[in-house]
Amino acid sequence: MTETAQSRSVQPGRMEVGRIEVITGPMFSGKSEELIRRLKRAQIARLRIASFKPDIDLRYQRDAIASHSAHSIEAVAVGDVARLRAALFPALETIDVVGIDEAQFFDDTLVGLAMELVRAGKRVVLAGLDTTFAGEPFAPLPALMAIADEVEKLSAVCMVCGAPAIHTQRLGTSQQLVVVGATGVYEARCRACFRPEGDVPGAEQLKLPG
Ligand code: ADP
Ligand code: MG
Ligand code: ZN
Repeated sequence: MTETAQSRSVQPGRMEVGRIEVITGPMFSGKSEELIRRLKRAQIARLRIASFKPDIDLRYQRDAIASHSAHSIEAVAVGDVARLRAALFPALETIDVVGIDEAQFFDDTLVGLAMELVRAGKRVVLAGLDTTFAGEPFAPLPALMAIADEVEKLSAVCMVCGAPAIHTQRLGTSQQLVVVGATGVYEARCRACFRPEGDVPGAEQLKLPG
């Protein structure tokens, strides 16, 4: 029998379909805040959530995803994608939504894991930096953005001029890719005020000479 238009039509609820959401932008753009907001809404909807962050990011709390504005949600700190997988898969039946913060600190195998989770019908919400302090794409975010169902790119406020900021400015001149820190180490900058080679704090530039 040939397939009719009828048999090919969408059948709502036919199978559990997962979803990949990426929240990205520079430091201080509200990525963690937005991730926490989505995870808390999922909890209100009685969905079962599991949240993770890389253990490199222990700036605020070991057992929580935290924002610069002091919002937080319980999370497990894991060393790498293999450990994330090991924490997740034995309990997968009991999880509806997987939240991952600071995704740029995991390697490219995070992309495969996100695909496996979405095929298993999970909603996967990932937050992370899209560019490095040098303004280059920050793997694995570019690949995650490409496979996502939805990408939200947030901007911060430029600390020099107040315009919307897409860059993470490193203060000082270190060329190491990963220097974990927040205020005093990094600040948000717009395209015009960004100095990939390193700079001094924006507030200092606003001081009048003399
Ligand atoms: P991210 O995870 O993207 O680094 P957070 O969610 O942790 O961002 O923090 C966002 C909060 O940081 C804002 O709501 C605001 O209170 C604060 N903040 C500090 N500096 C800035 C800035 N330059 N631009 C915007 N928000 C800032
Ligand atoms: Mg954050
Ligand atoms: Zn600016």
